[in-house]
Amino acid sequence: MKIGFIGLGNMGAPMALNLAKAGHDVAGFDLANTPPDGVAAATSAAQAAQGADVVITMLPNGAILRSVAQEVIPVMGPGAVLLDCSTVDVAAARDVAEIAEAAGCLAADAPVSGGIGGAAAGTLTFMAGGSAAAFSKVSPLFDIMGQKAVHCGPSGNGQAAKICNNMILGVTMIGTCEAFALADKLGLDRQKMFDVVSTSSGYSWTMNAYCPAPGVGPQSPADNNYQPGFAAELMLKDLRLSQMAAEAADADTPMGEAATQLYETFVENEDGLGKDFSAMLPRFASRRRA
Ligand code: NAD
Repeated sequence: MKIGFIGLGNMGAPMALNLAKAGHDVAGFDLANTPPDGVAAATSAAQAAQGADVVITMLPNGAILRSVAQEVIPVMGPGAVLLDCSTVDVAAARDVAEIAEAAGCLAADAPVSGGIGGAAAGTLTFMAGGSAAAFSKVSPLFDIMGQKAVHCGPSGNGQAAKICNNMILGVTMIGTCEAFALADKLGLDRQKMFDVVSTSSGYSWTMNAYCPAPGVGPQSPADNNYQPGFAAELMLKDLRLSQMAAEAADADTPMGEAATQLYETFVENEDGLGKDFSAMLPRFASRRRA
């Protein structure tokens, strides 16, 4: 396929490279970065999109997605797919899809889970929203960039799945960290806490697979001085998107709201910026009851 790839940052560059390595004809554009070897350099987003079968975007937020979409949709041919893999607000995903479809294109939102390691290894999970026609046209590309793709329903549903998952993740990480901090103060050894909880009803991915306590459980960012991993500011971004969506949908999400406020304080007023999101454990451990 002829592919235009817009947004060649930490995630986009390795994803574009994997498509090129698999034999696709990829032209990339980024405001700040040059494409990796094997990906042709376009001089603008529109040039990357010109004549492409699929235009992939991997951008920081919904406002940027909206402006790039305005630039590329007019030059995309009928039946070409606009595939956004960024994490953006549900409203932006739905609006962009509507504009693309009104112009005779197909559209899919397919945010990812798996991080920079998954992007480089081609093992991302895609959660996709959009028409069946759009999903089936881009499925071969999901197979190259990832290990799993779930079609979650119409446009915006990929973003909905992503922010619901990450709201659970943020809330669960905070619960796990505050329980470890309480265990410390009760004189309960962290390893014993892990041994019990990881095989009891308090178990979770954050406890069992990504334990926030250094030296306990499998290797995780806690064992690397809380270097990300998944940075606290990216968790904050996703939690804020969950709260925007909850506001728009009139959904009551008190735990998501509390998690958003805690990560906001941690990133903006404390020392959380640049740390893994599991660094909530030393934060709680160093505090007293408010
Ligand atoms: P990044 O900041 O490294 O990359 C974004 C790129 O977009 C940058 O290179 C920037 O120069 C470029 N860009 C910005 N505006 C542009 C424009 N108008 N035209 C062309 N290029 C433009 O971010 P990233 O880590 O690659 O993340 C990309 C998306 O993936 C985000 O939405 C993020 O939330 C999501 N995501 C990231 C991770 C992760 O672990 N990094 C995991 C899952 C999802």
